Amino acid sequence: MALTNSQYDAIMRDFDRRRNAHILEATLRKREILNTLPRVREIEDEISLSFKDAALKRIHGDKNASADFEVIRKKLEEEKAQILRQNGYDMDYSAPHFDCPLCNDTGYVGSEKCRCLKSAIISYLYELSRIKDRLLVENFDTLNMDYYSKERQVIKGRTEYENMELIVNASKDFVKKFHTDHKNLFFTGNVGCGKTFLTNCIAKELIEQGVPVVYLPSSEFFAELNKRRLMDGGVNSDTSYIDECELLIIDDLGTELTNERMNSDLFTVLNSRINNSLSTIISTNFSLPSIKERYSERVYSRLYGSFEFYQFFGDDIRKKRKNH
Ligand SMILES: [Zn+2]
Repeated sequence: MALTNSQYDAIMRDFDRRRNAHILEATLRKREILNTLPRVREIEDEISLSFKDAALKRIHGDKNASADFEVIRKKLEEEKAQILRQNGYDMDYSAPHFDCPLCNDTGYVGSEKCRCLKSAIISYLYELSRIKDRLLVENFDTLNMDYYSKERQVIKGRTEYENMELIVNASKDFVKKFHTDHKNLFFTGNVGCGKTFLTNCIAKELIEQGVPVVYLPSSEFFAELNKRRLMDGGVNSDTSYIDECELLIIDDLGTELTNERMNSDLFTVLNSRINNSLSTIISTNFSLPSIKERYSERVYSRLYGSFEFYQFFGDDIRKKRKNH
């Protein structure tokens, strides 16, 4: 799980906060019990005194000291338990009640991440992706191939259905080999033929594996980069996640009005991600030659050299869905 240090620290701060809150609760609970049930305090003092007494006796050769102490302790503990029960408290009233009994809210069992930390990281990644709600309904389990025609031939003798099947398989392969075979995908095709849906499928699978994924509609992507430019040298604009997340999805590239500055921003991000072997998926309604016209020769050549291209076909699924 390659979170950045600041992301990891944010999660661990949350663990510390919860752990400390439970310890504080226990301390306050103990204080309240000792104040409201003075006999409990007396019993605790008596146990402690008897323990010291037994230790002294042992030093002076009394072989029965430990056994005698156990008898006293048991009797006092029973009395204490009874008082606590009558007042609605547990015997372990002074122990913190941690959320995770496996790791006592430290996030680690030995040197291994506890399962609660792993799931906290995944929840964090869902939030980070910015499409948490959508991923719950748009994923490989809900992908419906019925929208694609088995008759209509679209490309190199393939039907719409066969074409989509090929892209779905390539997407599953992308997920499967994500950690071993660095790839970038370029999805092109008309509005509503499943590009965004498929990027969501990929995002969900990878997030479940603990991969940091960020989804940005093209307009937000450029807005974030603009923010960074304005903040440069000033307050930390914290847009580093764009460069550092393991998978960046830029959706609907080309819908924004482009200018030289954005051109250069796009190139810088793509270039840095490719050089750092971090994957990017771009979806767009534009074909690659139109992208060349819209952006620049160097953006085009970076895309051409480093991305796998898939052309989507089909009627607008969103319209079809409404008619059902
Ligand atoms: Zn745990």
